[in-house]
Amino acid sequence: MSAAFAPRDERLAALSRDVFDIAVIGGGITGAAVARDAAARGLSVALVEKDDWAAGTSWRSTKLVHGGLRYLETGEVHLVFESLAERDLLLAAAPHLVRPAEFLLPSFRRRGRPAWQVALGLTAYDLLALGHAPSRHRRLSREQVVARERLLEGPELVSGAVYPDGRTDDARLTLENVLDAASLGAVAATRLEVVGLAPGRSGPAARVEVRDRESGRQVSVRARCVVNAAGPWADRVRRLEDATSAGMLRLSRGVHLVVPAGRLPLSGIVAFPMPDGRLLFAIPDGAVTLLGTTDTDFSGSPDAVFAERTDVDYLLAAARQTFPSAALIASDVLATFAGLRPLVFRPGKSVGKTSREEAIVVSEGGVVTVTGGKLTTHRRMGEKTVDRLAPILRRHGVAVPPSVTRGRPFPGAAQDMGSVVWDPDVWSSTLRDEALVHLLERYGCRVHKVLALTAAKPELRRPLVEGLPDIDAEVVFAAQEEDARSVADVFIRRTHLFWQAPRQGMEAAERAAALLARELHWSTEEERASLDAYAREISLSRACLSSS
Ligand code: FAD
Repeated sequence: MSAAFAPRDERLAALSRDVFDIAVIGGGITGAAVARDAAARGLSVALVEKDDWAAGTSWRSTKLVHGGLRYLETGEVHLVFESLAERDLLLAAAPHLVRPAEFLLPSFRRRGRPAWQVALGLTAYDLLALGHAPSRHRRLSREQVVARERLLEGPELVSGAVYPDGRTDDARLTLENVLDAASLGAVAATRLEVVGLAPGRSGPAARVEVRDRESGRQVSVRARCVVNAAGPWADRVRRLEDATSAGMLRLSRGVHLVVPAGRLPLSGIVAFPMPDGRLLFAIPDGAVTLLGTTDTDFSGSPDAVFAERTDVDYLLAAARQTFPSAALIASDVLATFAGLRPLVFRPGKSVGKTSREEAIVVSEGGVVTVTGGKLTTHRRMGEKTVDRLAPILRRHGVAVPPSVTRGRPFPGAAQDMGSVVWDPDVWSSTLRDEALVHLLERYGCRVHKVLALTAAKPELRRPLVEGLPDIDAEVVFAAQEEDARSVADVFIRRTHLFWQAPRQGMEAAERAAALLARELHWSTEEERASLDAYAREISLSRACLSSS
């Protein structure tokens, strides 16, 4: 099996040499999905990302693949319907990355909907899943709720329900979209920032001016159509084409807290309503529990998005109200992460009531901006966007066949997992069981390549952090096969050490940097700079915790 990505310099050469059907700006889940859908239809695609795959909003989500129960309240039934259908497609097409999960929804006195309304909403949710859901919701008595989650016991608890939904690894889901697009011929590269845009109004192709953030060189990418999938930066990109273009985004900041699993031990995901009408989630994730999220207007720069002390206080107060005996306080918080929902501005709506539905807008110059939406609906957004490009491409003499991504397996699911697990290479590997299961869950059938690395160099079986299943080989694999180009890429978006490891993995980061240095031919200064950049990410994720 050859690598999906060609060497980076070959990709840069192709970007400046070829004329593409579509140039996609932004390598979050949306841009990655557009690139995958287009490449799978046989179109030629360039995909450029200014940082790393999923480095914008797409690694900072709650990591749920869900219908969005809450949107039934805002009357967005079609969005829930579409999300549930996409959830079920993803459960089948990426079983290693999107897993079914039972969500526990407790009902409380004086907050959230009364239990009978919740039951009605969950029945509607079951019906909208058209019977494809892994199971249906079940109502629970107060005692049954407490038997499942002891920490929910408190004077406000009345009863509860469990319902099926899904969870994922958002960054790796984005990456596998890109990997699939690349395996289908898309030319995709990171650290390429779009700095200029000249649409091809009358000429044969638009020009996308791209600056290589590693070398400082500028490259001109020519394409018949341009898609702006820059998420929270989409208005900035629109203004590269037309400086007077009106903003279409409403940015909403969402913050998560990371606390040790020992301080908030949960057996499964808890979705809990707040008195302000919001639905928050507590998600057990290995050594930690994630708590989120907030939903507040944001008007600053998308380049500088961090949790503030007020976010921490809000989430901790919510946790104390919901899990009284855990009595969480600020010193329990290990780290935070914050992201921006790139929602579409709708006059007269509060940020919480602003629709999560996507918008696809075509500028006068023919640049197509796609924004809004959800991680869950990314495939459908990709499909709808490429459908919108079809008439533009037809004018250039390019026929666009129908989408084929519905049901298309992701790269890690290209081979049946039963045959992977029973492959002699896998079960004869001398890895600890825990590490092997972890690798199978993370990489699916791509696990062979990681195991080939450990077979060639047994020292790469070493755990990156004692007590966690991640191994050194994953760093090498991330550099060789997954386009990782910094310690942060590996620790935040290829693994979860940023929030799961003690001290956010800073000690292991030194060894990871040395492994990356060998793979990417870094100088000592470059190795140091990558470590320093990761240390900065850690301190920014904790900055709001030091001010009281
Ligand atoms: P981004 O991921 O931000 O991608 C845009 C990319 O464009 C970035 O990587 C950026 O670096 C790049 N870019 C910008 N400018 C340029 C340029 N000039 N040149 C090149 N590249 C550029 N959805 C769910 O379905 N489930 C959830 O549980 C969920 N939870 C969420 C929780 C929070 C707190 C938030 C904020 C969102 C959540 N969402 C969830 C929504 C979902 O995460 C977003 O809708 C989705 O990630 C947006 O992806 P995107 O690709 O549009 O934007």
